[in-house]
Amino acid sequence: MRPIQMVDTKSQYLKIKTEVDAAIQDVLESAIYIGGRPVQDFATNLSSYLGVKHVIPCANGTDALQIAMMALDLQPGDEVITPSFTYIATTEVVALLKLKPVFVEVDPRTFCMDPESVRKAITPKTKAIVPVHLYGQAAPMEKIMQIANEFNLYVIEDNAQAIGADYIFSDGTKKKTGTMGTIGATSFYPSKNLGAFGDGGALFTNDDALAQKLKMTANHGQQKRYLHDLVGCNSRLDSLQAAILNIKLQHLDSYNMARQKVAEYYNNAFADNVKIVTPYVASYSSHVYHQYTLVLNGVDRDGLNSYLSDHKVPSMIYYPVPGHRQKMFASLGLPQQDLSITDWLTERVISLPVHTEMEEDQLAFITNHVLNYINQ
Ligand SMILES: *Cc1c(COP(=O)(O)O)cnc(C)c1O
Repeated sequence: MRPIQMVDTKSQYLKIKTEVDAAIQDVLESAIYIGGRPVQDFATNLSSYLGVKHVIPCANGTDALQIAMMALDLQPGDEVITPSFTYIATTEVVALLKLKPVFVEVDPRTFCMDPESVRKAITPKTKAIVPVHLYGQAAPMEKIMQIANEFNLYVIEDNAQAIGADYIFSDGTKKKTGTMGTIGATSFYPSKNLGAFGDGGALFTNDDALAQKLKMTANHGQQKRYLHDLVGCNSRLDSLQAAILNIKLQHLDSYNMARQKVAEYYNNAFADNVKIVTPYVASYSSHVYHQYTLVLNGVDRDGLNSYLSDHKVPSMIYYPVPGHRQKMFASLGLPQQDLSITDWLTERVISLPVHTEMEEDQLAFITNHVLNYINQ
């Protein structure tokens, strides 16, 4: 059996090495390392894949979220509603821009933002909602968009973990995650479902004027060179990453299907075990399993974690400390919040390896060890 890793980007690369190496070679020979054809082509290809009018590439997913909030002209003190149960980048940029993060609860089954909790958190200062499609499953966008329309709020979708997932509306129509809100933001960090060989990110929108502003914000506030109309930042996807992503985009659906097969194996192995809650897939979403995350019920999680590690099975806790308990926000003087579902989940979740190159003997090894520990 090959050694088990949380992600295996190397084996994935080796399968498409010829195409990727040729694309890299082309960029090297073009000597255009910033901008140029690969970046334009990737933006065009991704926008047709997603069915969204504009894709604006940038340097990483955290920048994408920041650029979104800058381009919407959010002002210091404006309130931004976000889940606490997410990667820190989502909430960090809120604080960085001197906006006020307002943490809300998630649905304990889906790990995504709870619309009722959002509704309760709205005040006259609320300007935006940032749903996160956590672990590869869509947040309940239809309800979130209803609330946003009712209160005239922007919606910035954090799609870093769910690229390629579908949201299924109640009338049966589908849209890709990241394309339903005012703006979608994503990351091409190597371990993401669509991963570069370095950093990368992008923004999505269907609004022409906003697309222009996002583009300018990512490029020093300029539309014409040396004419800086607004305060922006410097956030670029480089040509090498774009060339690589262009190739990997063609494989995204099959990569996501490989992840779904891994999840299916785990689901079958853990079915009916009362101590393990396998991922719940809501009727309104597909799931692209950026993570395969269990909720443990009456199991010593740290014990399981170290037992697995002793047997060379990696596992991870995403995320061990929720946003509302991070020291970085202490100085903001946010009100004490009761986020008991978030706290409850934080103590019980554990993520098992999921990537596109997993083999059946590895999956058998992992599930046997999890069950050995749990049933002991
Ligand atoms: C990875 C990630 C980000 C940030 O992306 P980077 O490219 O690492 O900056 C933001 N939000 C979520 C939910 C993520 O998983």
